[in-house]
Amino acid sequence: MNFHVLTLFPEMIDTGLSTSITGRAMEKGLISLHTVNIRDYSKNKHNQVDDYPYGGGAGMVMAPGPVYRAYNAVEEKIHSKKKTKVIYLTPQGKVFNQKIAEELAKEEDLIFLCGHYEGIDERVLDMIVTDPISIGDYVLTGGELPAMVMIDAITRLVPGVLNNKASAEIETFHDNLLEYPQYTRPETFMDLSVPEVLLSGHHGKINNWRREQSLIRTAKMRPDLLEEAKLTQKDLEFLKKEKLT
Ligand code: SAM
Repeated sequence: MNFHVLTLFPEMIDTGLSTSITGRAMEKGLISLHTVNIRDYSKNKHNQVDDYPYGGGAGMVMAPGPVYRAYNAVEEKIHSKKKTKVIYLTPQGKVFNQKIAEELAKEEDLIFLCGHYEGIDERVLDMIVTDPISIGDYVLTGGELPAMVMIDAITRLVPGVLNNKASAEIETFHDNLLEYPQYTRPETFMDLSVPEVLLSGHHGKINNWRREQSLIRTAKMRPDLLEEAKLTQKDLEFLKKEKLT
């Protein structure tokens, strides 16, 4: 999986992703990260990349030329037969979620385009962007943090990145259910014990308890998710018994 990021602040992306699990995934060659400074593609003598908006209004707009040339340089490098997805990080896009991460994790190359200031000239967006994506209903100063959020979520799904494949498969959102509560040693912490069933060594009972906890959590915290979840007859009966439906 190769991530290509078009940005005015490549050091932010390089630093942010070079530690912990994403950093190790790069060291192991499971992912690669290629940041491209859009400013390097400015033809302006002061390397300027933004300009005043036509029609007036607050702020500056990123000019189309440098963005287009930076994109072209990346496309030439990828040299793929099929069109590489170009994700524009924007609060106006479809809201990112685990399902989108799972879809994107199947791609070999992904190009991320980070905006700044008031955004990017619409003409170049129309020409190159395939997927406008938002990370939530709030406005940030730039697309760098959203790109890092997406790259982190996608990287975890690349085979070999997580030690335990099962951990991505039973996690929150995978089945439209939130994950059950987790505990580790010590067995008693400030007079609070871990649920007894987890010490029983009985896998059937543990799995059953975990499923019930997932159902309770999802019903209480994210009832919207339950509507899309694949529930068994047993799950439905449990929710009814607990008065959660
Ligand atoms: N004027 C734009 C608007 O109202 O849609 C907002 C521009 S924002 C200040 C600057 C840049 O930050 C955007 O071009 C985008 O790349 C990024 N950005 C801000 N909020 C975002 C979000 N929620 N999700 C993804 N990208 C975001």
